[in-house]
Amino acid sequence: MKTTGRKSSRRKPTAAVKSHSKREPKATRAVRAAKIYRTFAAEYPDAKTALDFNTPFELLVATILSAQCTDARVNMVTPGLFRKYPSPASFAGANPTELEQDIKSTGFYRQKTKSVINCSRSLVEKFGGEVPRTMDELLTLEGVGRKTANVILGNAFGIPGIAVDTHVGRLAQRLGFTNEDDPAKIEIDLMELFPKENWTQLCHLFMAHGRKVCASRLPKCEVCCVSASCPSAFKFSAKGKPDLKKGR
Ligand code: SF4
Repeated sequence: MKTTGRKSSRRKPTAAVKSHSKREPKATRAVRAAKIYRTFAAEYPDAKTALDFNTPFELLVATILSAQCTDARVNMVTPGLFRKYPSPASFAGANPTELEQDIKSTGFYRQKTKSVINCSRSLVEKFGGEVPRTMDELLTLEGVGRKTANVILGNAFGIPGIAVDTHVGRLAQRLGFTNEDDPAKIEIDLMELFPKENWTQLCHLFMAHGRKVCASRLPKCEVCCVSASCPSAFKFSAKGKPDLKKGR
């Protein structure tokens, strides 16, 4: 990801940023959220999904394969995979043992094989071989939860959705945009806070920042472009664990 390298605003905040819904007025939080969005958008102007795909179906398969696996690894597997199985019908009729070997390097390959084959069969049998465009329909497919459905809606169809993965959930919590742990509830909190047209890109921005700066174990608050607006800034111990005495 391209970054601007700005440093001037990356200082320990002089005044504590109030955090979380119970203490921070909703209107104040919305202003802070908008500012953070703008800062991230400037910091990561090229943020987008890291999975390679040409069609909604390819993105669907790639997203299923990306569970517990890096996007880079998935991108190494999918070109050959889609040459061998170019359509939902091809995957629906695949030999499971053979497909397991084809996707083995992405991990959890037995479950993923089952999901991809059954998902493809449903597409062929219920949706004419096309990926559906609604959350309710996508959720009927095996291997597809809200996160995957939102990835498909947002990135394949341009329908705004918030896909709460580990980075998005962690950033939402640390930035004081949610008190929830349940991804579905985090999704709702973020939907209420950000304009609909920004939902899909918000996820890309959070993922970019989560990978580059706000890592799970050791966030780099000292170089973070939103540290002045983050209630969790500099509240992690030297070991990277949240220092609970400092609160969040
Ligand atoms: S790196 Fe630190 S300051 Fe930046 S968002 Fe994460 S916890 Fe907040």
